[in-house]
Amino acid sequence: MHSSFNRRLAAIGESRTLALSQKAQRLKESGVRVFDLTAGELSFDPPADLRRAVARAAQQGHYTPIAGDADVREMVARAESQKRNRTFGAEQVVLTAGAKQALAVALQTLLNEGDEVIVPTPSWVSYESQVLLCGGVPKFVPLDPDTFDLNVRALAQQVTKKTKVIILNSPHNPTGSIFSSRALKSLASLARTRKLWVISDDIYESLADEKPVPHISTYLKEGVVLVNGFSKSHAVTGWRIGYLVADTDFIPGCTTIMSHTSGNVSSLSQAAAREALRRPSPASYVRALARRRRIATELISQDSRLLYIKPRAGFYLFVDVSAVTKDTTALCDTLLAQAGVALVPGEAFHAPGFVRISCAADEKQVREGITQFIQHIHTL
Ligand code: PLP
Repeated sequence: MHSSFNRRLAAIGESRTLALSQKAQRLKESGVRVFDLTAGELSFDPPADLRRAVARAAQQGHYTPIAGDADVREMVARAESQKRNRTFGAEQVVLTAGAKQALAVALQTLLNEGDEVIVPTPSWVSYESQVLLCGGVPKFVPLDPDTFDLNVRALAQQVTKKTKVIILNSPHNPTGSIFSSRALKSLASLARTRKLWVISDDIYESLADEKPVPHISTYLKEGVVLVNGFSKSHAVTGWRIGYLVADTDFIPGCTTIMSHTSGNVSSLSQAAAREALRRPSPASYVRALARRRRIATELISQDSRLLYIKPRAGFYLFVDVSAVTKDTTALCDTLLAQAGVALVPGEAFHAPGFVRISCAADEKQVREGITQFIQHIHTL
């Protein structure tokens, strides 16, 4: 990289999952048969009401307030108040370009150079890079290996005077686990005593099998930033619409950052959010994903060397392949080259020895892709 570029860039790479899915896409375009089980890109079409709302909104093209239109913020506040059994106001909401921007803006609002951020691992690929881009220092703490629940004791040991934030993600990418009430309650007590902020990335909550999903805000009333969006709940990943909800005094920092960087989220996407907030994630999505996860686990169970913990939400299956190989980056490379199956290696999530299978692709792709994967594993 050019020496005059921002030196923080040298510490981070492009998102591994996006890079891999682009590689799979290029192979497909060159005529190779590829089963792309990398990305969190749902195979469903966006609900028709959302598509119509966007088409109507396209009649106009003005800026909106930076934090988003007042009525949409109000709807988000109402939806989150209902879910969390709390009262949030519209002034506590910022609409963002996906949950990803909500996370980035929240971290930019909070972090000074050298502040530490605790990230439980396995972890979604962008947390680390977002922290590094803000000059923060990520501290990785493994989840409980038997349950993929939070290990609060291990986490407490990593807290120092410099620790400022803990990032939670439940339901969890890449494992599909849901953190227990017990762990969240004890984490809340730690956060209160050590005055830590908690960012709760709730992007997979709508795709959980059982609701309500235990949540940190039940136990911690202040210093929590809720992050969510519609990419996964309504299959509109490309429309880039999400939000954060936080204490009222947190919001001006976020809108200042956005006012100088992105400006408001596209008014078309806000129209989609307005419609999405009127209707929950389609039950058909949740059912189809639960079915794909079942198919995936049944296929994986055919090889006793492959281990997994049954995912309870979303569309990922995180498989321990360490009995076959420890080098999952090499495994994923040969798997793509020889069997045309694209998976993400555990190294991308700070969990070598695992691979992540996404069941967001349609059922046929999932079934055939995993069958090819198992056949390849048999040869090793
Ligand atoms: N958080 C997690 C854990 C994710 O897996 C993703 C997307 O894959 C995001 C956030 C970003 O979602 P969005 O498309 O809303 O930016």
